[in-house]
Amino acid sequence: MSVIETCHRCGTRYEDEFRVRCGCGEPLWIESEATTFAWDDGGDRSGIWRYESLLPIDRPDGVARAAGGTPLVRSPGLDDVAGGRVFVKDESENPTGAYKDRGSAVAVPHAIAAGDDVIGTVSYGNMAISTAAHATSLDRECIVFVPEDISRVRLELIGQYEPTIIRVSGGYGELYGDALELSERLPISVLVSDAPTRISGYKTALFEICESFAPETPDVIALPASSGGFASGVWLGVRELERAGLIDEPPRLCLVQTAAADPLTRAFEDGATDPTPMSPDETGETIAHSIGNPDPPSGARALAAVRDTGGAVVSVTDDEIRTARRQFAVEGGFCVEPASATTLAGVSRLADRGEVSAGESVVLVPTGTGFKELGTGGTDVTAETVHRTDLPARLESLLP
Ligand SMILES: *Cc1c(COP(=O)(O)O)cnc(C)c1O
Ligand SMILES: [Zn+2]
Repeated sequence: MSVIETCHRCGTRYEDEFRVRCGCGEPLWIESEATTFAWDDGGDRSGIWRYESLLPIDRPDGVARAAGGTPLVRSPGLDDVAGGRVFVKDESENPTGAYKDRGSAVAVPHAIAAGDDVIGTVSYGNMAISTAAHATSLDRECIVFVPEDISRVRLELIGQYEPTIIRVSGGYGELYGDALELSERLPISVLVSDAPTRISGYKTALFEICESFAPETPDVIALPASSGGFASGVWLGVRELERAGLIDEPPRLCLVQTAAADPLTRAFEDGATDPTPMSPDETGETIAHSIGNPDPPSGARALAAVRDTGGAVVSVTDDEIRTARRQFAVEGGFCVEPASATTLAGVSRLADRGEVSAGESVVLVPTGTGFKELGTGGTDVTAETVHRTDLPARLESLLP
């Protein structure tokens, strides 16, 4: 299959499936050349491979087969908080507990098929865990570049797949650019957040949501945004379904950022097409550590996605995130990481502003599981001790 990469901004086409950036500076993506597509084309295949004809690679072996196919759960307990009819697209059910697997399932096998000996990534979070899992499942060496001061828990989560972990000192923030350059010079594929093949994998989340609603379309889809990679993939999916005639009115894409690092919210409010990078002085600490990017590489594309679909970008504080995380658990039964809890807090803000209304269907996308965070503090849990012989009396006192 010939793979053409295109630029969302200037429309330039490249007959090159490994280029990351357009001459104009914007990240590239791969638009499917398929002219027809129907929902039942997927047959009984599962996960992201239901949409194989719209993906740039054939279905590989290994853990990639388990990516996607996550449940969409109607969750009435969250309606009052969100201000609409809530559906939860539970991305924690991916093999490594985050939506990143959709991208790794396409990008890692694609790089291996191209003959790259080693897969790499620059991350100390879900991207690192996911990339390492997919590389090892295809018996390929993986190198993960992490910051020098990475926590023990994070090292353990990444280390279980036994990649080579390199702590980098002297400017982790600049490593993103260095990595792209190294990828071009050496037979190593460093798969960062906006690698075009990752974006192809991410679009399957939108396909799954729309397939579940077909022939209807949800009114709102809310996702957390950091680099803007996931938002780009969802927008790519919207465009492809519009072209295939499977949706008329696109869902409004609502992106949520942490107030500690929110260049996209600022640009959206200013009416700017490009985010202005935030300086270290302007950037704060946050419990939503998966979404703290002050200089999002796919930021302009994410903003274009929001404007094209009539959506919005909002920021929420750590207090709102803590509350939302608890609501996800207590009102919905979902264990989500702080970055993902932002979706509920963000939609609740939009409802307060009258931008989401009660009858509307709202899909919240918790991008990653909260189980990886347990033991890192935050929740006070109380539990009483009762002597065995006192249990019957205690239980009776608990009955209504
Ligand atoms: C990576 C990540 C995000 C942010 O996605 P971007 O593509 O960087 O915008 C959000 N939530 C979780 C759990 C993540 O791991
Ligand atoms: Zn361009």
